[in-house]
Amino acid sequence: MSFTAIEHPTPTPADEIAKVFSDPGFGLTFTDHIAVVDWAADEGWANARIQPYGPIPLDPAASVLHYANEVFEGIKAYRHPDGGIYTFRPQKNAARLNASARRMSLPELDEQVFVSSIEELVRKDHAWVPAGEGKALYLRPYMFATEAFLGVRKPREVTFRVIASPVGGVFGKTFAPVKIWVSRDYARAALGGTGAAKTGGNYAGAMAASSAAAAHGCQQVLFLDQAGEAVEELGAMNIFLVMKDGTLLTPQLTGTILDGITRASLIQLAEDSGLAVEERRITLDEWAHGAANGTITEAFACGTAAVVAPIGELVDGDQTITMTGDFSITRALKNELVGIQSGSVEDRHGWLHRLV
Ligand SMILES: *Cc1c(COP(=O)(O)O)cnc(C)c1O
Repeated sequence: MSFTAIEHPTPTPADEIAKVFSDPGFGLTFTDHIAVVDWAADEGWANARIQPYGPIPLDPAASVLHYANEVFEGIKAYRHPDGGIYTFRPQKNAARLNASARRMSLPELDEQVFVSSIEELVRKDHAWVPAGEGKALYLRPYMFATEAFLGVRKPREVTFRVIASPVGGVFGKTFAPVKIWVSRDYARAALGGTGAAKTGGNYAGAMAASSAAAAHGCQQVLFLDQAGEAVEELGAMNIFLVMKDGTLLTPQLTGTILDGITRASLIQLAEDSGLAVEERRITLDEWAHGAANGTITEAFACGTAAVVAPIGELVDGDQTITMTGDFSITRALKNELVGIQSGSVEDRHGWLHRLV
């Protein structure tokens, strides 16, 4: 499938892009173009195009506005010292978008079309990819049901789009440990539910817990399993604990946890460097005892947006778990992953995909 292109009539001048690059924040400014592919039950995927960024005409009865049939992805493009622009493991995002789509009764998109949509958009808007530590062009592919119909069934009209936004770090560019709030009032996912799908409603449902966390001075919220015992994940990040002997612990994927590409990549890098990784059930009790007796020394959250964020404190009601380690393992893993993504560390697994 090839993409046609409609150029933006008044592209953003270079000095305005430079102003955005000086302090991009996260997800605030969008590039001049958008990639679009439409789907209809009778025709399949068609009309792949790059067009000027702008509002989407949508029927007020569009299924997504009523039933939230939407899935999305998050992936970055990095400007390397050699001048090339690369993205990281895009086939993984393509496969995950399709897994989310299957769960939410949306059509699957050919993985090559997903990758092409990113290639075409970044080639068109390459001037929007910032250079510099922690900076990247964040790409947001998403798919939703546009069909104007209030019946509850698999939609017959769907659109897939990719927008792009220059970003800095989510928690700033420092390595300052974040404070996490344990959600006791809200669950994120349950067995058989949609927790493993990257679908909008999961995040709407998690925002009440994030607000509670913020009200208690915490930057993120930790969700437990439905029994309120085992650690699952943060609002939009996976979680790892580090033991004194360097062993990494992370919750196993049970269907309630999002299968993070950062998580999978860090597991690989940890194993490459000789660290043991245990994917298993981890209770909050185990964490509290391990932190108290010095066997669990570091904790961190990970995801494409924030990459790796050290967790300094975990607040559970009136109890606080404090991590006492120096975050040396967390830092080493972060540096290696960021190094591969930004082109300063050898990409020995072939994870990078050149775009420009
Ligand atoms: C996107 C996401 C992650 C992280 O996935 P990455 O592929 O590493 O970006 C983790 N948890 C949730 C709930 C997510 O939505």
